[in-house]
Amino acid sequence: MDEAKRARHFASDNNSGICPEVWAALAEANTGHVTGYGDDPWTEKAKQYVRDLFEVDCEVFFVFNGTAANSLALASMCDSYHSVISFDYSHVVTDECNAPGFFAPGVKMQPVSGENGKIEPDAIDRAARSRRDVHASMPRAVSLTQATELGTVYTPDELAGITKTARDLGLYVHMDGARFANAVASLGVKPREISWEMGVDVLSLGGTKNGGVGGDAVVFFNENLPQNFLYRCKQSGQLASKMRFLAAQWIGLLQDGAWLRNAKNANRAAALLDTQLRGLPGVRILYPRQANAVFVDMPGPVLDGLHERGWHFYADVGPGGARLMCSWDSMAEDVEAFVRDVVDLSK
Ligand SMILES: *Cc1c(COP(=O)(O)O)cnc(C)c1O
Repeated sequence: MDEAKRARHFASDNNSGICPEVWAALAEANTGHVTGYGDDPWTEKAKQYVRDLFEVDCEVFFVFNGTAANSLALASMCDSYHSVISFDYSHVVTDECNAPGFFAPGVKMQPVSGENGKIEPDAIDRAARSRRDVHASMPRAVSLTQATELGTVYTPDELAGITKTARDLGLYVHMDGARFANAVASLGVKPREISWEMGVDVLSLGGTKNGGVGGDAVVFFNENLPQNFLYRCKQSGQLASKMRFLAAQWIGLLQDGAWLRNAKNANRAAALLDTQLRGLPGVRILYPRQANAVFVDMPGPVLDGLHERGWHFYADVGPGGARLMCSWDSMAEDVEAFVRDVVDLSK
């Protein structure tokens, strides 16, 4: 099947385009000259929208992508002998090409395992204590992903347990929020209730997968951490000279709630996939569907058939199964067409 006929598929939420609100905000910012590198009214306004979103006076920086947001955030809290505890299949561990140790040379990721894509307080405690003192690296931070890489969501109670353990061990807490909006939409909470109120020190806030062009934010709730952060951004090639266009995307996402609407739409499509696939012969849903991804086990010939029919999705993310990722623009008709093909190929 040719690509054009299959307009939307389930490979990733970064396969989708730009949402109309972001497109309009970019057009609006595209007038006249303003100062470069972030000293402009658009950037100021976008930062204020992020502060309003979190209902707190946080420090906000815009960078080009999530890998930079994560690794620069971690670098801001680590020295060369430190380690960062994170989940086995987290993006920082498996999908960032050693970037944390590149931006903070010497720093090591310390992966821990857990159920359904989540880290548990006990695992953090074990990882921090079971090491050979000065001979091993010194744990410095916990990095957790919300929503997780396996499509689940940490509840406020689970977050409270993790951050308490981290605090007791003297560790900072970083949150990879590439899909933070999907977690907020899923839990029906306010952003503050799963971030700074829970003791998160720094958040990588994703915009790209939620309808942006490209550009994520680093949000510091801990006022001691962003020291010299602009130098880190510049040195790593992440200080945009035409910053107003990274910023304008956030104005488009946040000024009238597109951020949450987009996430809700993606979550809704995944929920529909979950219900429609559940119970089909040979199909097994692998983790609780709580955000915009469904992980599913299906017979090999069905997976091959789906790929042959032009559906895009990954079967190598996480510990196994196929990952079906929904986007801000996924529609019920996409889900229904996919499920029809699954049923047809299972005959
Ligand atoms: C997509 C993603 C990122 C950011 O990836 P970039 O390609 O660097 O923008 C970070 N964390 C998670 C969990 C992601 O899914």
